[in-house]
Amino acid sequence: MPKAKETVLEIDLGALTHNFNYLKSKIQPNTKFLAVVKAFAYGSDITTIAKHLETLKVDYFAVAYCAEGVALRDAGITTPILVLHPQPVNFKTIINRCLEPSVYSERLLREFITAAKAEKQVHYPVHLKFNTGLNRLGFKRDDLEIIAKHFSSTSSVYCKSIFSHLAASEASEERLFTEQQILEFQGLYDACQKFLDDAPIKHLCNTSGVLNYPKAHYDMVRCGIGLYGFGNSATFDAHLKPVARLKSVISQIHQVHAGDTVGYNRAYKASREERIATIPIGHADGINRSFGHGKGYVFINEKKASIVGNVCMDMIMVNVSNIDCKEGDEVIVFNGKHKASTLAESAHTISYEILTAISQRIKRQLL
Ligand SMILES: *Cc1c(COP(=O)(O)O)cnc(C)c1O
Repeated sequence: MPKAKETVLEIDLGALTHNFNYLKSKIQPNTKFLAVVKAFAYGSDITTIAKHLETLKVDYFAVAYCAEGVALRDAGITTPILVLHPQPVNFKTIINRCLEPSVYSERLLREFITAAKAEKQVHYPVHLKFNTGLNRLGFKRDDLEIIAKHFSSTSSVYCKSIFSHLAASEASEERLFTEQQILEFQGLYDACQKFLDDAPIKHLCNTSGVLNYPKAHYDMVRCGIGLYGFGNSATFDAHLKPVARLKSVISQIHQVHAGDTVGYNRAYKASREERIATIPIGHADGINRSFGHGKGYVFINEKKASIVGNVCMDMIMVNVSNIDCKEGDEVIVFNGKHKASTLAESAHTISYEILTAISQRIKRQLL
């Protein structure tokens, strides 16, 4: 593989295919697969990822916001797209671009029906979102009556799916809570069926739900992080392959003496003769300042080099005193071996945050 000559995020579509097939192997053949591609497909490249998943015959996409769905339509994606967190100001665009809103409150349901009517729609698909314990977005049991009333008095929309979201599907110590969420969701779905004509698609599980709660797969599953190569546990990580690899290069090496300081606010002080390498990636690229002061690291010629001092906007400095390296050498921030999930732990965060923070100014390179 050619060595990186500048900071690049490599995207491995072979790894994406592998992860998709692995997750598919965990569900029944008739269970639909929704791919979550919000936040630039978890920091990678939304159109490249979505186009590839379309060739793998994914059933559905989900994005968080309307603009992300518009970007997919502009790229020629024709698969149905669920918008998880829409706002009424975008309802007209949602309808005009054939996007399907998650409707999570009476205010949204009322306003979406009004928008669908204004756009002369009949039977426009909406997805009812229930709150079963995450307390983030969603209707509650008390709302069933008002939901029924709205659906019985309109033909502008219909309920295409009913869903909820698990709060702790990756946490084995929260198994009882998750089982309770599953039961609550089951009850809410059954209650809705009493007043809806169609049988809506029933879905609850995210990646960890798919892996840990096979009985709750229902009609469709919604996978994000697993597609990008992370399973929120060492066991599942071993079966998945990271899709994104972040690489860079050594721009310059400085020889510093005992007492010399490195970087802004002189935050690092050399205690002896040391070699410090400057790498062209900083907090504007997604290397959070919390990685400074030795918490974060990169790999150079397979050896770990810790970040010294503060992370700058466009650069980090790393200690290469014990590494045989020179200017122009390749630097690995994360790849299939040195995983983003491990780097995340060193700064008390999670793979999701590391991946989605990778800024748009870093070149995406398709493998
Ligand atoms: C982001 C999101 C997902 C995907 O979760 P993963 O843990 O990345 O698989 C699924 N459902 C909803 C509602 C989400 O917001």
